[in-house]
Amino acid sequence: MEALQPGGAGARVGGMQEDAEEKYPALAYDTAVSTLVAVALYVLVKVSLDGFRQWRASMSVLVVGSGPAGLAAALVAVRSGKVLKLTLLDERSRAALLCRPQQISLDPRSVRFLLGLGVDFDNMEGCWHNEHFFTRIGVFQEYLLSILEQKKHRVDVQVRLGTKFTEEYLHRIPHSDWPRVIVVADGSCGDSCSVLGISSDYTVESCHAYGANATIERLDQRQVPTPEIRAHSLYFDLSAYGVEALREHRTPTAKSGFHLKIYGTLRNRYMALVCPASDTKMVRFLRHTANSSIMKNIFHQSFNAYKTDIEPRLNDVTLHHMQCSRRLFEIQLSHRRVSAAYIEGDNVAVIVEGEAARVLNFDTGFGVNLGIRGLESVGTFIYRTATAVDQNDILEALSAKMQHSRQVAETFKQTGVSESMYE
Ligand SMILES: Cc1cc2nc3c(=O)[nH]c(=O)nc-3n(C[C@H](O)[C@H](O)[C@H](O)COP(=O)(O)OP(=O)(O)OC[C@H]3O[C@@H](n4cnc5c(N)ncnc54)[C@H](O)[C@@H]3O)c2cc1C
Repeated sequence: MEALQPGGAGARVGGMQEDAEEKYPALAYDTAVSTLVAVALYVLVKVSLDGFRQWRASMSVLVVGSGPAGLAAALVAVRSGKVLKLTLLDERSRAALLCRPQQISLDPRSVRFLLGLGVDFDNMEGCWHNEHFFTRIGVFQEYLLSILEQKKHRVDVQVRLGTKFTEEYLHRIPHSDWPRVIVVADGSCGDSCSVLGISSDYTVESCHAYGANATIERLDQRQVPTPEIRAHSLYFDLSAYGVEALREHRTPTAKSGFHLKIYGTLRNRYMALVCPASDTKMVRFLRHTANSSIMKNIFHQSFNAYKTDIEPRLNDVTLHHMQCSRRLFEIQLSHRRVSAAYIEGDNVAVIVEGEAARVLNFDTGFGVNLGIRGLESVGTFIYRTATAVDQNDILEALSAKMQHSRQVAETFKQTGVSESMYE
């Protein structure tokens, strides 16, 4: 009988166990390393491909309307680096666009936004006052058009003025050339949204203030940009109409009484008169009076009291150049219920901007700033749409855009009138 010897079968079994114990951790280690390498490689390839796709992603954008909102939106698009072709339409001719006389006032936030788009205020006719920039709307539009035209070497920019956006226009575009994004900025009277099947329902909300506007056109005056004039806590003597104001205003606050703004060029003068919503005797009287000469008289006296020294007073002869609201009315903001949409099948995302999206029934002299607030989310929207992997990504981008649009309206409703008139 062979005795089990050390080094015999028993020893061999023990040796194999030792081998396995040594090899298994090494094998597990190898497997883990190769899995890790494979995952890292996959992540690297995916990230590089995504990065490459995002870097390369580019699309075609159509902007309807070449007012301040449309032009600024077009500039955002061409500077996004994601737009290969931009088409800009306006039904007006270039001459009609550029001769628009109204003055616009850009507040510090709008100025910062436009500086980011490469707007050089030193090269635009206008004036600064209290960090606001005042210029004629035609001058502003001409300047933005000129910057867009300078971008032609990097993006295919097609400016088609004198061209109305209609259903026919849309159907003339070969389907393969349809834009991926349409920005509707056709102003408060435009109907491009209905061409695209977007509902024209508006939410109308009170801004908790009452106001009245006046315009004075004096063709003998200059069309130069002029800083605005503000006057606060005004009370009017309406005792001749049986309205005693003083007793109601024994403890005036900083924001009580009326706030007046005179703005525009010396040729096209505008006035806005505002007071916080209240039910005082004076406010009730001015809201309901049938006598339109009372409001005319208030604007007449206010203009002569606060106008610049270099412009003539309004007198009985020149007063007929003034038109004004007949009475105080409630200031309301109307904003579209649907400000973004997806045209399924055609794979087109539509966003609505400027006065086409939200408009006040009262001119504060700050209308353009409200439009620019909405444009603050256009850059991100374009990036997200251009780099979208599927329809879901586009729908998410549209939903975020619509949320921002609602937020712009909500913020304006809370603070817009007081920021533009009471301060
Ligand atoms: C009398 C007056 C005084 C004002 N004063 C001031 C002021 O002092 N300060 C200030 O900031 N703002 C002022 N505003 C407001 C300012 O003009 C507006 O806020 C601004 O113009 C709105 O810009 P937008 O681009 O949204 O629309 P818009 O300027 O109305 O531009 C829309 C463009 O779309 C075009 N369009 C419409 N339909 C079509 C279509 N189907 N196809 C192609 N093109 C189309 C129109 O021709 C237009 O050029 C004033 C407005 C008025 C009326």
